[in-house]
Amino acid sequence: MPRRGTGPPQPRRIPNVKQVVCVSSGKGGVGKSTISANLAVALSLTDLAGRKPRVGLLDLDIFGPSVPKLMGLEGMGEPELTSYGGLIPMKNHGVSCMSMGFLLGNASRSGAGEEEDEERVVAWRGMMVMKATQQLLFDVDWRLNPLAPTPESPDQIDASNTPLDVLVIDMPPGTGDVALSLAQLVKVDAALVVTTPQEVALIDAKKGVAMFNKTKVPIAGLVLNMSHFVSPDTGKVFELFGKSTAVERYAEKQKLDILARIPLQPQLSAGGDEGIPATLRESLPAFESGSSETEQQQ
Ligand code: ADP
Repeated sequence: MPRRGTGPPQPRRIPNVKQVVCVSSGKGGVGKSTISANLAVALSLTDLAGRKPRVGLLDLDIFGPSVPKLMGLEGMGEPELTSYGGLIPMKNHGVSCMSMGFLLGNASRSGAGEEEDEERVVAWRGMMVMKATQQLLFDVDWRLNPLAPTPESPDQIDASNTPLDVLVIDMPPGTGDVALSLAQLVKVDAALVVTTPQEVALIDAKKGVAMFNKTKVPIAGLVLNMSHFVSPDTGKVFELFGKSTAVERYAEKQKLDILARIPLQPQLSAGGDEGIPATLRESLPAFESGSSETEQQQ
């Protein structure tokens, strides 16, 4: 655990990670974790100057960790430790993953009984949450081979052992303590704010944007999830959660790009349930990107 003085926290790099992208949402249930998992997998499949990038996925949703399920890593037991106590990520679908769900054993969303889950959540308030957040942020050994000799300083990027090119962080919903400490403690290269067209989701997403602006975290843009549904039979577009105009107006006012408009796609939720992110399947229609106002019929 890194030691700190009493002054204001200084954002610093996560050891052995080159770039940090965090995915946030004001409100739960808008698809933040689904997007984080699919983004991590999609990034790991891209071409980075002739090689595949090393990508990690960190689940900071301490009270509702879903990365173990989404990445097909449920029931894998607790992570192993390096000789100096670093947490060793678990790997699946080409992505190195770490989640509170691994540390809580079976007590992730679909693991332990509801009562036991609730007890743990109550016990996890306050200081312990902050400790766990810092541990997940700074005590994971993201190197390709965590069992290689310890680098001299934990902040040092060990050239002999490949670091992560990108770490995608699935943040807890809202702008609570965990989200705020991430923004204050870690040098984040880009934040994505996920919203749906619904007014309630947008109201909360605005709070996320305000938090990032205040903590000087660069916002890459908004992701508009569940923006529409395309009928597979007729190709007709249904805007089940209402028109996207409020989000578009807000984005324009804030000079934020809408990076992607993701339709409701049964493959996305099925992929999550099966622990196989839908981006791994070639048949998934490409996500529509850009902020064009016309909905494309796929
Ligand atoms: P959050 O992390 O914001 O709480 P999740 O990623 O857990 O949200 O998503 C909530 C539910 O919505 C999950 O069942 C997920 O499979 C589903 N879902 C998310 N995005 C889509 C989408 N574009 N199409 C279909 N289902 C989706």
